[in-house]
Amino acid sequence: MKVAPQSGITAVYEGRRFFFDSEYCRNAFLEDPERYAAAELPGEGEDLSARRVAYFSMEVGIDPRLPIYSGGLGILAGDTLRSLADLKVPAVGVSLLYAKGYFDQRLDGEGSQTELPVSWNPTEVVRALGPTVQVMIESRSVLVRAWQYDVVGQTGFRVPLVLLDTDVPENAPADRELSYFLYGGDDRYRLAQEIVLGIGGVRMLEALGYRGIERFHMNEGHAGLLALELLRQEPGGGSLAEAISDVRKRCVFTTHTPVPAGHDQFSYDLVRSVLGEPIPLDELRMLGGEERLNMTLLALNLSHYVNGVAKRHGQVSQQMFPGYSIDSVTNGGHSLTWTCDAFRAVYDRHIPGWARDPFSLRYAIQIPLDEIRAAHAEAKRKLVEEVAKRSGVALAGETLTIGFARRATAYKRADLLFSDPQRLADISRRVGSLQVVFAGKAHPRDAPGKELIRKIFRVAKQLRDDVRVVYLENYNITLARLLVSGADLWLNTPLRPLEASGTSGMKAAHNGVPSLSVLDGWWIEGHVEGMTGWSIGPRPGEDGADPGAAEARDAADLYEKLGSIIVPLYYTQAATWAEVMRRTIAFNASFFNTHRMVQQYAANAYV
Ligand SMILES: *Cc1c(COP(=O)(O)O)cnc(C)c1O
Repeated sequence: MKVAPQSGITAVYEGRRFFFDSEYCRNAFLEDPERYAAAELPGEGEDLSARRVAYFSMEVGIDPRLPIYSGGLGILAGDTLRSLADLKVPAVGVSLLYAKGYFDQRLDGEGSQTELPVSWNPTEVVRALGPTVQVMIESRSVLVRAWQYDVVGQTGFRVPLVLLDTDVPENAPADRELSYFLYGGDDRYRLAQEIVLGIGGVRMLEALGYRGIERFHMNEGHAGLLALELLRQEPGGGSLAEAISDVRKRCVFTTHTPVPAGHDQFSYDLVRSVLGEPIPLDELRMLGGEERLNMTLLALNLSHYVNGVAKRHGQVSQQMFPGYSIDSVTNGGHSLTWTCDAFRAVYDRHIPGWARDPFSLRYAIQIPLDEIRAAHAEAKRKLVEEVAKRSGVALAGETLTIGFARRATAYKRADLLFSDPQRLADISRRVGSLQVVFAGKAHPRDAPGKELIRKIFRVAKQLRDDVRVVYLENYNITLARLLVSGADLWLNTPLRPLEASGTSGMKAAHNGVPSLSVLDGWWIEGHVEGMTGWSIGPRPGEDGADPGAAEARDAADLYEKLGSIIVPLYYTQAATWAEVMRRTIAFNASFFNTHRMVQQYAANAYV
């Protein structure tokens, strides 16, 4: 980060002197000076009251050095902030700074996962801000402080990400730990964190001088308490209905969860003891649910604009909450971030300006096929190299490589590909050889998720002679970039309708990597059979009555597509395969990006 000119660590670039607070920051600058040189000096002098949008998220995946994300929700938040910065939307992000991160994943020879706290030094990545605020948790006053990470757009415009934590000496030891772990602890811990995020976040923005926020955007229900804080702050004198109506004008809610069980809910006993009564309990019940405090319901009732994260997910959410009007804004990926170096160079040559205008990736349809092939070969070489370095497994450069990486949790069905190992081995032996790269962490308390990883290890051993399989530890942003560009085929096999959107296939599309996926979430929109990839299983609405049959039917279809279409195409029709890659970029990267998404939020929800 750049700091005011009192630090002794400096660099000169194009005749200007820049100041840094550590060697680390200076080195980061020297790697990409153009981008940072364009940025304004943070803090001093800027009129923060000109910021109009505050984006709240429990997790943000923006920098591999910031271990404050667990999966797609966080990555989406990070990509959103990047596009907000690129598009010069006057926004600020709010999340928590988890001193011990999510966790470091270790896998033993059987695929059993152990979790270690992440050791990292926040001062190397973020800078401390002065103001503190207080929140009440279990009738104690808890001090909250803040840090800032600057999201610098390609235009030099900066969106600050304000990260809150409670790890200060003034707090009792148990309160200091409230910001240690992302998604750690019990319901009490979670509710306390949501108080820090929602209530602490609103107060911190005020303390920092963000006085002009017109839209508070809740990325998932975790941030719902911000709306409650806004309601509490409403001037007295008017009716409750008027106060609610005022708050609703200021709030926007994006839901990510397609089933009721996935929504954050807290018993009112817990709410009373941890949160107290910021508003009278009968009013809270009216807004958040009679039986339990449901954060989705609270956010729904206090927002003027609500959306799901893909068209289908918008419809599913609308059916779940028929009394509300629920729109959809399909997710995206940040194009520059998720495009590998080799494809960046190709796009730079053929589509100048693509990174600031990713819609123009539609012109990829004219890129010569051999350039597409060469760029992919380069990305694949890097993946093969990294896999060897991390695992000792030597993948074959010419073998069709399937990538599967995301949170290891039951509904994502990482093991669907392995439901009939013999059949997979047959395809690899008789039709064309296959290898598979997996990665993904299971939540520490997700026993079925952990079992999924062990199962993959077991089947991998069984398949050893026919299909090379590797499971990489510690899936994160860095590894994701390698995988979504270096794999030949991106596999996604969620149980419908549980994949609200999914974003990794969009990232793969930015690198010309086609998807083979169940028709759920974004793939219903991005899929054109044989053109941008392939589907698994029936179209939505044609599921049949027996959900138990879904597994066998999806698996059979998966093997059928692989064995009779995809593997033969890959090995015998190289030009056609390259055309699929090119179409994947032109159709899907040009649309499933966060620039398009942020512009929809701006048009539908922010103005
Ligand atoms: C993109 C991404 C995800 C989300 O993957 P899905 O397939 O959408 O679930 C999770 N983790 C990381 C590190 C990612 O980059």
